[in-house]
Order: sequence, then structure tokens, then C-alpha cells
Amino acid sequence: MRDLSQLRADMVENQIEARGIKSSLVLAALRKVPREAFISDRLREFAYEDSPLPIAAGQTISQPYIVALMTEALGLAGGEKILEIGTGSGYAAAVLGEIAAQVYTVERIGELAETASAALKALGYDNIHVLHADGSLGWPPEAPYDAIIVTAGGPEVPQSLKEQLKIGGRLVIPVGINPRAQELVRVTRLPGGAFKSEDLADVRFVPLIGNEGWSEENAPAP
Ligand code: SAM
Repeated sequence: MRDLSQLRADMVENQIEARGIKSSLVLAALRKVPREAFISDRLREFAYEDSPLPIAAGQTISQPYIVALMTEALGLAGGEKILEIGTGSGYAAAVLGEIAAQVYTVERIGELAETASAALKALGYDNIHVLHADGSLGWPPEAPYDAIIVTAGGPEVPQSLKEQLKIGGRLVIPVGINPRAQELVRVTRLPGGAFKSEDLADVRFVPLIGNEGWSEENAPAP
């Protein structure tokens, strides 16, 4: 197998930059984070294929291009306080941790929260904080946030998350009732309390299950 750091550099050049991601902060973060540290050893050889991969508990580590697209859509300049909903493997949190000052990330499946937390600690990310909870409600004690990213799809934008944005803050989330296709939406909190919403792309995510997401019984099958 070729050196993984070379495969990582190739992936960023051929799959991420070539598909239009321009933010130098996002590209540098993707060049640095070892994706193989967030997947099982038997999938190591696929770490730098630009596709989602299975992780424990029937969930997925997102496709690197989608991580890049969503991170770029947050409009980060560096040094922010960020909330991620859907820690999963911890990979996207690490990408965010390369750019932001502090990352708060919430995962509803305990096993994943534990594994991700251990992987992030092993890589030395002491600015990333993992919580096992229902992230559709956000992480209120640490609010407000400069940016919020949700890596699971809900039927609508959770009100709790909108309320935890700073003025000028951005929330990027897949939304829609079709389990096979959601709209990636960016919500910006404007001065005076209004919110601006923009449609960014068609995407497909596992369901956001929780109080302000799908109920466990009604969640669309992935
Ligand atoms: N960001 C992850 C990564 O880099 O590996 C990918 C996340 S995976 C596509 C979506 C994750 O959202 C799953 O781990 C799932 O358990 C989690 N999830 C779904 N509903 C949630 C909720 N209400 N709160 C927190 N996590 C949730």
C-alpha cells in the first residue's frame, strides 16, 4: 500500500480541490488529519477514497468532500467556538479542531462518543470536547456558538440550535423528509433576531434522531 500521507495529499488535490473547495484553512485541515485513525484497521486501505465508510453502531464516517463542503460553508476564519452535532467517528471534529479554537461535539450513541473521544485524545486534540447526549437540543451551557454543523439529517432545522447561534453565526444542516435526499441548508442569525436560510446542495445523511429531530420509531431507514 502506498504511504497514507501521500494518499491523503492526493485525495485533497484530486477529490477536494478539484471539486471546487477553495478555503485554504479547510484544505490545510484535510491535508493534516489522519482519517485512518477514525476507522477500523480492516478499512485502512480505503481511508483516502472519497466515500463514506461504515463505523460502529450502523453509522458512517462522512465522505471527505462533504466534510470539506460543510466546513467551508461555515465561513470560518480561524479561532471560532464551534458546535458539531453527530460526532460519529470524530473525523469531522478533528478537521474543525484544526481551524477553530474550541469544538464542542455531541453524539447520541455512547459507544461512538467513547471511541471518538479516545481517538481525538490519542491524536492530542485538547480543544475538542465530546458529549454523549441528544444533540438536536444543542449543548446549551456552552452556547452561543460562532458556527454549528449538523452531520445527520433532520425533518426541519431544530429551533434550539438556531437559538444557540451568536448574531452573525452560521448553522449548516441537512434537512428534509426524504431519507434518500436532503437539502444542505445554511441558516445565518441576523442582528435583530431574524434568520436567513440558503439552500447549498443535495446531500444524503443518516437521520438526526432526537427531541428536535426524528423520533426513533419514525426515523427514515438509511
Ligand atoms: N461527523 C461524523 C464523522 O466525521 O465521522 C459523521 C457522523 S454520521 C454521518 C452521523 C452521526 O450523527 C451518527 O454517529 C449518529 O449517531 C449521530 N446522531 C444522530 N442523531 C443525533 C443526535 N440527536 N444527537 C447527536 N448525534 C446524533
